[in-house]
Amino acid sequence: MSYTTNPNTVKSIVIVGGGSAGWMTASALAKVLGPELCDITLIESDQIGTVSVGEATIPQVQLFNRILDIDEKEFLDFTNATFKLGIEFVDWQKKGHAYFHPFGTYGTNIDALPFHHYWLKMQQLGKASDLSQYSLTAVAAYQNKFMHPQQQQNSPLAGINYAYHFDATLYAKFLSSYATKRGVTKLNGKVMDVGLNADNGNIQTLFLEDGQQITGDLFIDCSGFKGILIEQALKTGFDDWSHYLPCNRAAAVPCHTITAQNITPYTKSTAQSVGWTWRIPLQNRIGNGYVYSSDFIDDNAAQEVLLQQLESSPIADINMLRWTTGMRKKSWNKNCIAIGLAAGFVEPLESTGLHLIQSAIAKLMTLFPYKNINQCDIDLFNQQTEKEYLRIRDFIVLHYKATERDDSDFWRYCQAMPIPSTLQQKIEMYKETGRIFRQDDELFNETSWLAVMQGQGIKANNYHPLVDRLSDVEIQRRLQNIESVIANSANLMPDHHAYIQQMLS
Ligand SMILES: Cc1cc2nc3c(=O)[nH]c(=O)nc-3n(C[C@H](O)[C@H](O)[C@H](O)COP(=O)(O)OP(=O)(O)OC[C@H]3O[C@@H](n4cnc5c(N)ncnc54)[C@H](O)[C@@H]3O)c2cc1C
Repeated sequence: MSYTTNPNTVKSIVIVGGGSAGWMTASALAKVLGPELCDITLIESDQIGTVSVGEATIPQVQLFNRILDIDEKEFLDFTNATFKLGIEFVDWQKKGHAYFHPFGTYGTNIDALPFHHYWLKMQQLGKASDLSQYSLTAVAAYQNKFMHPQQQQNSPLAGINYAYHFDATLYAKFLSSYATKRGVTKLNGKVMDVGLNADNGNIQTLFLEDGQQITGDLFIDCSGFKGILIEQALKTGFDDWSHYLPCNRAAAVPCHTITAQNITPYTKSTAQSVGWTWRIPLQNRIGNGYVYSSDFIDDNAAQEVLLQQLESSPIADINMLRWTTGMRKKSWNKNCIAIGLAAGFVEPLESTGLHLIQSAIAKLMTLFPYKNINQCDIDLFNQQTEKEYLRIRDFIVLHYKATERDDSDFWRYCQAMPIPSTLQQKIEMYKETGRIFRQDDELFNETSWLAVMQGQGIKANNYHPLVDRLSDVEIQRRLQNIESVIANSANLMPDHHAYIQQMLS
């Protein structure tokens, strides 16, 4: 029996929502299944629109584009993309302090032990430079430099790890064209009602405003925060994490780019008295936003804060967004899988939104069902999704909890709030031993945890005992060597903006 002749294979998939989640999902399904095996229909509504934010990414997005065989130049050109080497966090630990969360690694393992244990010892002795000096991506970012990884053995230039900043609306448009060319049917219409199968509770029919009725085997809910299938129809339930992450609103507005030097290869996040502002440079404009908590500042005052931070005049009206932080109790319920904001949302401090979409798509491919869906597939999908969200949540909470800032009610709340025990354990372990462990294939690796724990002012009181096998003089010599190799490598890298221009010329 083949896929097409087997009566139990999924022959029609209906996606509701044409934001980044909808079009990323449609593109990936179209690439793998194609119109020969399965009808894929995407319904979007002009009346509702998309959130139109989601412009900073993490390196995994490269893999997504590669799986779709997207040409990088074409993508950069279409979406006005720039390269991203990490995130600068300003005023987070305390006012006037900044640190960098780089992609890539710090230094290199020495005798199979993680580099940072040697650094911790030298730092305690006052003989180490700032941690960022041992990361090529951090050094290059601050010098406004970029290039792709080079095929040079034993050179840090081989390990350049990068992501993109891009125009989210244009990315959705780019993928819309990609998916429709590969057979995805696009419908403009508003889903008004959802018909469930009386026997098993599965979604059976979507009723559109214009009277159309759409049926399918599998439904993907990419309808944004409302979750019109997963929540409004299936009443799946939501875990609210607002007590850990009180920011629940954002105001976003783009402004003009003034000079090429403004087009930095990193995202900037600046802590404010309440929440934080972002700065995301694209080729043609700077994306700006203010993420805040409505319990501590009202919308008008928040807009003022945002406008005061702009480095040039705004080029659009302010886009106001609101959400509840948390996730659906199940992302996959019956024959419906929620992807994107319909599945949950953790604020964009570490640019994880698009990654969670990509990751949900990957899990869906791995656990792609027959029409008679196995409950064990659903359970596994939901367990993995929950683990992933929880680990990301912990990492974001770390930024708020570990701060010396107590200059506003907001920061005093964050300092005093209870945190998840999983995060507490990570912090305690680092403080007591200097050790960092990546759990359950969590998204953020040791470099990320180290960057943020150190950056937020958490001090490790110890380091790996085997570090003491080498003399202090020898460790210092090796650290100096790593630092100078990184400095020399950064010198070889071209200017970020010039590099993009050359690529696109
Ligand atoms: C303030 C903020 C900043 C963010 N920054 C980042 C970032 O820097 N990096 C990152 O990776 N992620 C970021 N994200 C997350 C990212 O924006 C989202 O993950 C991504 O845009 C996916 O959105 P979506 O497609 O799920 O929802 P949406 O963009 O809201 O799309 C919903 C779609 O559903 C359709 N729809 C809704 N109801 C109906 C209906 N009844 N009938 C038919 N169609 C309907 C709409 O027409 C629309 O097409 C950010 C999010 C926010 C809120």
